Amino acid sequence: MKRIAILGSTGSIGKATLEVIRRYSDEFKVEALSAYGNTELLKRQARRFHPGKVAVADINLRVSFGSKIKAYSGIEGLEEIASDKDVDIVVVALSGAAALRPLLAAIAAGKKIALANKEALVMAGALVKEKLKKSKATIVPVDSEQSAIFQCLKGQDKSEVRRLYLTASGGPLYSVPLRKFAALTKEEVLKHPRWKMGRKITVDSATLMNKGLEVIEARWLFDIEVRRIEVLVHRQAIIHSMVEFVDGAVLAQLGITDMALPISYALSYPRRLANNDSALDFLKVKNLTFEKSDNKRFPCLNLAYEAANVGGSAPCVLNAANEVAVEAFLDGRVSFIAIPKIIEKILSSHKAVANPDLHEIFQADGWARQEAGRLI
Ligand code: NDP
Repeated sequence: MKRIAILGSTGSIGKATLEVIRRYSDEFKVEALSAYGNTELLKRQARRFHPGKVAVADINLRVSFGSKIKAYSGIEGLEEIASDKDVDIVVVALSGAAALRPLLAAIAAGKKIALANKEALVMAGALVKEKLKKSKATIVPVDSEQSAIFQCLKGQDKSEVRRLYLTASGGPLYSVPLRKFAALTKEEVLKHPRWKMGRKITVDSATLMNKGLEVIEARWLFDIEVRRIEVLVHRQAIIHSMVEFVDGAVLAQLGITDMALPISYALSYPRRLANNDSALDFLKVKNLTFEKSDNKRFPCLNLAYEAANVGGSAPCVLNAANEVAVEAFLDGRVSFIAIPKIIEKILSSHKAVANPDLHEIFQADGWARQEAGRLI
């Protein structure tokens, strides 16, 4: 029985992870859960899954979880449950930069980590890799694209990899002409055709920043140069990503669009758990199509490549500027087309620090947030 901590259990990935645990209740048990402010849902989850610990954002929200549950608060609370001795697997399903410190705590404690959050690796990929080398911790990706590549690389010699292909569904704005972008409402942007996800990642899917963050994430997860990672728009979202080898052979992972599959793989790795509801019907799929992304409509993808090529603190600045710009769009303070403009402006005025330490990463993150706030 593996004991699981879910950081961000009230979010889209967190809830899907609890469903996986419920389905395989003879394999997994919940040891700890966390929410930011949604304590009502956290309480319901605690009643259903009986964790020993919970963490919430604020000390004032800690009350009323009952005497059997130890309640923590703040980032320190997340670090506490990420490194708890009773936890075997830490699912990092927080959204945004808040995941970095708990992720580092899980690494320092040598945990098996199922990583959904992408922002932490984007901010501090080199640092995370350095800490991983000194620890017995392992990371198995949850993100469907990274999970696909992880699965295709299993048993392969990494020196024989030529290229990674990350597939992108194209998001909710794939067929919307550029002239309509300025007037897009948040409701239109949040209507993703394939995946039901949290609000921030759904906006990132619409701008294609999500794919840009994944390029940087893949660079660190699979130790590969950014120039050997390509993005292909694949509307059907059946191929979750692919690896091309030096002899031209390509391995792809295919499947239905259901996050339960990469989540259960990350929890059970290196085994696979049986699931009879997950078969892909090829006769219904019929076509698999591939296109290049349109940089005019979706400049965020190129901005991410640029930040990755500059390296050092630049991806951290890209991520922070994006988080602030997306939040401002969701609050109705800026238009959709302002998102890439804000990011571009901040990136171009940033003097990147090579090999930043944790302090320098948080400094770059804070600077970019402040600049983005000023611009907005
Ligand atoms: P959601 O917005 O649905 O959920 C986020 C979770 O994190 C919630 O539990 C939320 O708590 C908590 N949270 C948010 N901010 C903070 C904070 N500052 N401190 C502590 N906890 C916080 O996000 P998703 O589940 O969609 O995504 C989570 C991560 O996984 C993201 O990095 C995303 O890019 C990645 N991912 C998501 C996929 C998906 O299908 N959704 C697919 C692949 C990757 P509360 O509910 O209380 O606000």
